[in-house]
Formats: sequence, C-alpha cells, structure tokens
Amino acid sequence: MSKTSRRVVSGVLVIVALVVSAGGALGYLGRLTLVFDRHPGKALAIVAEVPGPPDGPACPIDARYFDEKPDGLPPEVLKAWQALRSKASEQGVQLCLNDGKRSRQQQRKEFDEAVKKFGTEELASRYVLNPPDRSMHVLGQAIDIQPIESAKWVEKNGGALGWCRRYENEQWHFEYDAGYPTGGCPALVPSATGS
Ligand SMILES: [Zn+2]
Repeated sequence: MSKTSRRVVSGVLVIVALVVSAGGALGYLGRLTLVFDRHPGKALAIVAEVPGPPDGPACPIDARYFDEKPDGLPPEVLKAWQALRSKASEQGVQLCLNDGKRSRQQQRKEFDEAVKKFGTEELASRYVLNPPDRSMHVLGQAIDIQPIESAKWVEKNGGALGWCRRYENEQWHFEYDAGYPTGGCPALVPSATGS
C-alpha cells in the first residue's frame, strides 16, 4: 500500500468511527427524548414518585369497591379516563376507579404485604410486581375498574378511547395507550407478573 492510500484508508476509518459514535450518541439522546415525550415536562422518575389516593369513598353501585379520585394520573391519561367515564355514563354504565395511580412507595408496600401474606418474596412476586417501576400503576398508565360488570363494558368499548384490558387474570385492569384507538388492543397475556 502506498503512503497516500494508507492515509486515505485511515482517513476513512476515522470518518466511520465518528459516524458510528455520533449515531450512538443520537440514539442515546433519542431514547431520553422518548422518555420525556410520554409525559411532557415530567420525567418518568418524577411520575413514579407521585402517590395516588390510598382508597376513596365506596363505589356507589357496589360498596365492596372504592371510587377513588383520579389524582396523580398524567394529564393525557386523566383526560382519557374522564372521556371513558362520561361515555360509559351516557350509556347508563357507572365506572368506579377502584385503584389508579400508585407511587413507588405504595407499590412497594403492596409487595411487602404480599410477602407477609405468602411467606416468601418469590411467592409474593407472583402476585405483586416488584421492583415497583414494573407496574403501570406506578407509571400512571393503568386503572382498575369495578364492579366487574362495568369492567366488561370497558373491555368492549374502551379501546376506541385508548383503554385496553391486558391480562387474562385481571379482568378489572386497563392500560392507556394513545395508539390503541387506531392500532387496536393487543392480545391478552396471562398476567402482569408473568406467572
Ligand atoms: Zn391494575
């Protein structure tokens, strides 16, 4: 190889290295942007710390359940919840928000209670998500609707407003995604904990 071609080769290598590292940096920044885009102006880390009401007044149509205030839900999710509730109400169906937003701390407490109940962390983690960030309730994207008759209405009609049931073992649990109205609901999976 002549001196000139060697210089050309190493020049090309330097350019390739620069392009690859710039691409990597952009990819990294891109991911960061996505995280912030989901909740404009709020990082997920902050959303995860926002507590929801621990309980609420009794559900007017079934006192075994609560009807919590939708406190702590990100604005887009709150709007979608309100739209869902009024559409149901127009059709004579009352939805009770048995559980909505949880903070990391609230989710951790649920896990600790499950450990007490079932005896080991391994058994508890079949029923309650741990670490807390795995829970869509902590991320403010999930609601539990009761009574079951009302949840059935949501399963049938919620997709058009962005609310889909996700798990076979949780008929009451719905998650919000802005893509569901156009993309449709994803297929059910057995459970949130994978057990
Ligand atoms: Zn749930």
